[in-house]
Amino acid sequence: MTHQQTGSNTDGMKHILSDAVRGASYDVILQSLLDEARLLLHDESWASVYLMDEDASGRHLRLAAASGIPAVLTDMLARLPVDPAGTPCGRAAYGGRIVIVEDLRDDPSPAPYLDAAEVHGVRACWSFPLHSPGGRVLGTLAYYHAAPRAPDADLLGRIGYFTDLLALLTERHLREQESERQRRLYETVLSNTPDLVYVFDLAHRFTYANAVLLQMWGKTFEEAIGKTCWELGYEPWHAAMHDREIEEVKATRAPIRGDVPFNGAFGRRIYDYIFVPILGPDGEVEAIAGTTRDVTERKRFEEELRDSELRFRTITNAMPQMVWTALPDGTVDYHNERFDQFIGWTEEMASGTNWAQELVHPDDRERASERWQHSMASGDTYEITLRLRHNTGGYRWVLARALPLRDEAGKIIKWLGTDTDIHEAKLNEEALQAANQRKDEFLAMLAHELRNPLAPISAAAQVLRLAPHNPDKVRQYSEVISRQVSHMTTLVNDLLDVSRVTRGMVQLDKVPVDVKAVVTSAAEQVHPLVEAGRHTLALQLGSAPACVLGDRARLIQVTANLLANAAKYTPPGGRITLALDVIDGMVRIAVTDNGNGIEPALLPQVFDLFVQGKRTPDRAQGGLGLGLALVKNIVQMHGGQVAAHSAGPATGSTFTVDLPAAAQLPRPAAVTAPALAPSNQSLRVMLVDDNVDAAATLSALLDTAGHVVETINDPRQAVTAALASLPDVFILDIGMPLIDGHELARQLHAQPALAGAMYFALTGYGQNSDRESSRQAGFDRHFVKPVEAARLLEALDGCTSAA
Ligand code: ADP
Repeated sequence: MTHQQTGSNTDGMKHILSDAVRGASYDVILQSLLDEARLLLHDESWASVYLMDEDASGRHLRLAAASGIPAVLTDMLARLPVDPAGTPCGRAAYGGRIVIVEDLRDDPSPAPYLDAAEVHGVRACWSFPLHSPGGRVLGTLAYYHAAPRAPDADLLGRIGYFTDLLALLTERHLREQESERQRRLYETVLSNTPDLVYVFDLAHRFTYANAVLLQMWGKTFEEAIGKTCWELGYEPWHAAMHDREIEEVKATRAPIRGDVPFNGAFGRRIYDYIFVPILGPDGEVEAIAGTTRDVTERKRFEEELRDSELRFRTITNAMPQMVWTALPDGTVDYHNERFDQFIGWTEEMASGTNWAQELVHPDDRERASERWQHSMASGDTYEITLRLRHNTGGYRWVLARALPLRDEAGKIIKWLGTDTDIHEAKLNEEALQAANQRKDEFLAMLAHELRNPLAPISAAAQVLRLAPHNPDKVRQYSEVISRQVSHMTTLVNDLLDVSRVTRGMVQLDKVPVDVKAVVTSAAEQVHPLVEAGRHTLALQLGSAPACVLGDRARLIQVTANLLANAAKYTPPGGRITLALDVIDGMVRIAVTDNGNGIEPALLPQVFDLFVQGKRTPDRAQGGLGLGLALVKNIVQMHGGQVAAHSAGPATGSTFTVDLPAAAQLPRPAAVTAPALAPSNQSLRVMLVDDNVDAAATLSALLDTAGHVVETINDPRQAVTAALASLPDVFILDIGMPLIDGHELARQLHAQPALAGAMYFALTGYGQNSDRESSRQAGFDRHFVKPVEAARLLEALDGCTSAA
């Protein structure tokens, strides 16, 4: 221990304090002050300053400065525990009070310290806590003496001056250290964020800019700080905009936000920024802080998303289908315009909890809900046909389908669905099924109807064989056969006619037609039926002319059909009225009866093919359910309409036909050519038919009429035979095996010797195309089987004999 005689001097203190004011380092000032404090003791004393430290192991004292203490001892005293049973300094720091140990030999300090004191000749130790203005212990000031010693009051007072000064400087030092630490912290944070961070002063100058902002400007901190946007080279509109915004934040003290494109070191980018006011303790705006984020990628992504969303919407709106999407819980969150149109979407619908479900037909709802729940639970494709409410208030059949959209983890994030309107197809399918069923029923009925006449024919044939010489029986049973054949012929003709009409194979021969004449002819035609039913038929033809452009024969057929039905379906003694009217450019034929009437269930289908009412025993006439279908088709071909009315069974019926009226009256009927005088000549006729029976009966008929008939059943023999007999007329069956009628006609025509003969075709086919084929094969006439004898004989009468 060296002894210093110098006392504390005012010059030294002035010096130290002016150093402190000028910002000298804390360590230097601390050392100077400690040296000065040591000078208070005019003997061989050492001094040290400890500062309080805290780490994971707790609080302790760290030797911050030492004066006079040998280095070997400072090592040992470098760190002291803050401890109520420790060294005098440890105790002073612990209790926050002065500890004076006059003689260390009486002190309870731990052994190692006492031993070291002994070795270095330290007998007394005083320790003074350094109190911050707030009362916190910042450290201690310690004196060590070579002999036992206690301070007097004066000394204590002067030491107190030093401890106050030391505490003050230490407090300031710690604060500076703390704010430096904070500055480093903020600086680290701010220079490592990708966002731009800056502060404006009230004159719009940058007072702070973080590293990335400086980088974007391409400027150093010194170059940029203190400059305005204008001075930093912002485009004028941009600088002016920020000026306005800073002023706005100053005026409103509220943050503002914006986004702006900027050309900087990183190229042209889009920035999202926010300016916030920094308020002083008085609540006034002191500065404006800003942060700016580069949102170029986000904006691009948003734009792409918007684009893709727009594409999706445009495509879905262009589709004829309804398109919708649903969340994983089934809530529909998008539907396209087509869907909106279909259901007649209103915003109020959205307020209902289950609007999508409520659109489903009540009868389909449970099935649809089950299927949908299953799909949502399992992720299976949803597919169902159901009825959906249409904006017209009715329901339409749709095919609903939906597929799940999954994220990368396979979780369902959306359902994408479509509804396709299959209403027409579904109805067609149902109609087709119904038609098919009707067709089957019809075939069964047809078979029955065709078999019915066979029994009397067969019985009659039997009688004729057994009693060939009984003229009465022969006549009676021939009549039975004729009647039945005529009935069958009617059935077959109806059948052929309906098939041709409904397939559109019939050409109408349209001329101006007087409907009154049509109606009268039809009434004449059904006269026997009306008579048989003892009905009265009243024709109310009116006075106005009723003319249409149409096919006279077909219109007679239509009217006769309606009248025949009225007669058939009215119990004997009924009243039938046919009224003719011209209303609004339409000619209306209405046939009303007071007969059976029509069941409401049958009424809508009564014009359909094969549709018939229940068969009752009084339906002896037994039609095929074709008549009204024919009527409807023919009327439609004339641009007209049909309708049926009946209040139900036994209330009678009214059938109406409306046809567009023609302005022109029908031309007077063409002058018919004078009928050919019966020639009564005998012709040589060659009949070629492979059907022996048919050939024999026709031959008998021609023979009876006075012609000379040669019958050939094998067409291969026809040419030779003809060259021998040179017939005037050839009647050739068309449908023959080996050589058909057409071919045979060509072969016969090729024979010069046979030139001048007439050719008649005999066939089951009577369509225009069949007639055309006959003409091309060289036939002069075309007869459809069964041949009307009168017409055939009439045609023969028109031929001339070569003889
Ligand atoms: P068909 O007379 O051969 O059965 P139609 O097509 O002419 O076939 O008629 C279809 C069905 O319509 C008939 O079976 C009958 O039940 C009903 N019908 C037609 N006309 C009348 C009518 N004037 N009164 C009552 N029912 C009718």
